[in-house]
Amino acid sequence: QAKNEGRNRYSFFEPQMNRALQMKRMVEEDLRNAIASDQLLLHFQPQVSIDGASIVGVEALVRWPHPEHGMIPPSEFISIAEERGLIVPLSEWVLRRACEQARQWPGIKLAVNVSPIQFRHKDFVASVIRVLEETGFDAERLELELTEGVVVEDADAAEAAMMDLRAHGVSLALDDFGTGYSSLIYLRRFAFDKIKIDRSFLEYMEATGESAILVHSVVHLGRALGLRVCAEGVETAEQHRFLQAIGCHELQGFLFSKGVPPEEIDRLLTLERPFEQALAA
Ligand code: C2E
Ligand code: MG
Ligand code: MG
Ligand code: MG
Repeated sequence: QAKNEGRNRYSFFEPQMNRALQMKRMVEEDLRNAIASDQLLLHFQPQVSIDGASIVGVEALVRWPHPEHGMIPPSEFISIAEERGLIVPLSEWVLRRACEQARQWPGIKLAVNVSPIQFRHKDFVASVIRVLEETGFDAERLELELTEGVVVEDADAAEAAMMDLRAHGVSLALDDFGTGYSSLIYLRRFAFDKIKIDRSFLEYMEATGESAILVHSVVHLGRALGLRVCAEGVETAEQHRFLQAIGCHELQGFLFSKGVPPEEIDRLLTLERPFEQALAA
């Protein structure tokens, strides 16, 4: 009898649904605590010059090593943090830690992801400037990665915040370019410095000629607008050769390195040709 009840109770939920609910509850309970007690971690993924020879920047990617549930990827907790009002403290923690860390890597850029909810917060620009002051990190080396979601809701406010950031020397990249709806209009209206071509374009590039044409067009468009163009998700030497041939500026992807702990960036920066092996393949 009891056994049956138990089975019935759980069978009401799809396993996935059940997991999603569990995740939310757990995140709510644990995330604030994790932020406060420094349990989150940052990994950094190199951004590489188009010849593949040197590291020109690093993108900070947040990680949550949960004591019971193992390493939880950002795709599973960022949106929940947004829903539950935890994105502001989380993002401040990320920006501060990333600046403290990257201060030790002179001469390269630091890219930090910004969630739309965080960006829309009225104190967002002030909080970025405060973190820069408190950490002593050079604003000219900071690049914020925004997605189209940042500008869709209140374009005027977004535009004002972006101008303000740029006036302080911070640069702006449009992340996941090509996955939204109105990218071309945004590129004309908003003051981006860089576009990052979403990795889904590269994923299908070998299979279909059309994807290669799209990537080529985006690179051409970006260059014509005076923007830098970074390709995300570069996994093969063939993709690298293609991107180099069409005039892309920067590369990011597993061909070079995944997101790694700061000690590994320390090590890569001591090497003269950090990706020699990848390029030889
Ligand atoms: P994103 O900003 O587009 O970051 C790139 C994601 O693609 C990272 O996943 C990275 O590990 C993955 N990636 C990079 N190169 C390759 C490749 O060659 N192949 C494949 N298959 N994947 C590659 P990750 O770390 O899981 O992050 C996922 C997303 O979570 C990020 O996408 C970003 O939108 C968000 N995110 C990460 N950290 C933060 C953060 O601190 N704040 C906010 N608001 N969002 C963050
Ligand atoms: Mg990003
Ligand atoms: Mg991206
Ligand atoms: Mg992406």
